[in-house]
Amino acid sequence: MSDTPHVRPPWDDYFMDITFQVAKRSTCDRAHVGSIIVKDRRILTTGYNGAPAGLAHCDEIGHLMIAGHCVRTLHAEQNAIIQAALHGVSVAGGTLYVTHQPCLTCAKMIINAGIQRVVYAGNYPDENAVAFMTEAGVRLERYPTTPAEVVAADQADEEEKEF
Ligand SMILES: [Zn+2]
Ligand SMILES: [Zn+2]
Repeated sequence: MSDTPHVRPPWDDYFMDITFQVAKRSTCDRAHVGSIIVKDRRILTTGYNGAPAGLAHCDEIGHLMIAGHCVRTLHAEQNAIIQAALHGVSVAGGTLYVTHQPCLTCAKMIINAGIQRVVYAGNYPDENAVAFMTEAGVRLERYPTTPAEVVAADQADEEEKEF
């Protein structure tokens, strides 16, 4: 046995660590986003941002840019919710962990999928998404630790917004 006692991570740390692992599978390098949906401390589904199944990825053929956004990909939260539909798993009452704050489209899907709590790291300055989820009673919690790669992505987003 080692001298230092093993410290088990709290649940939010445990699930956010996994969420950042999921983000590494992203195929759009404009932002590597990961998401998982958890209920009763069990992971139900995972998702990362990338092209629809079977289609070429941004990593292979480049981004598909419209109005300053890459539209080739489904967002991580969307893929996590769609995976639940694909496999017939109810995510109602669940918690969604995500490496970035959800956008408005994802916020609307989160609300209608019955997700009750969203834990996010990083930032994605979308006031409407926050307002929608708050009005719908979704608990929104910012995860206190922000890894360096998320900070870099936030800064890139803010620079683009200045145009
Ligand atoms: Zn892309
Ligand atoms: Zn989104």
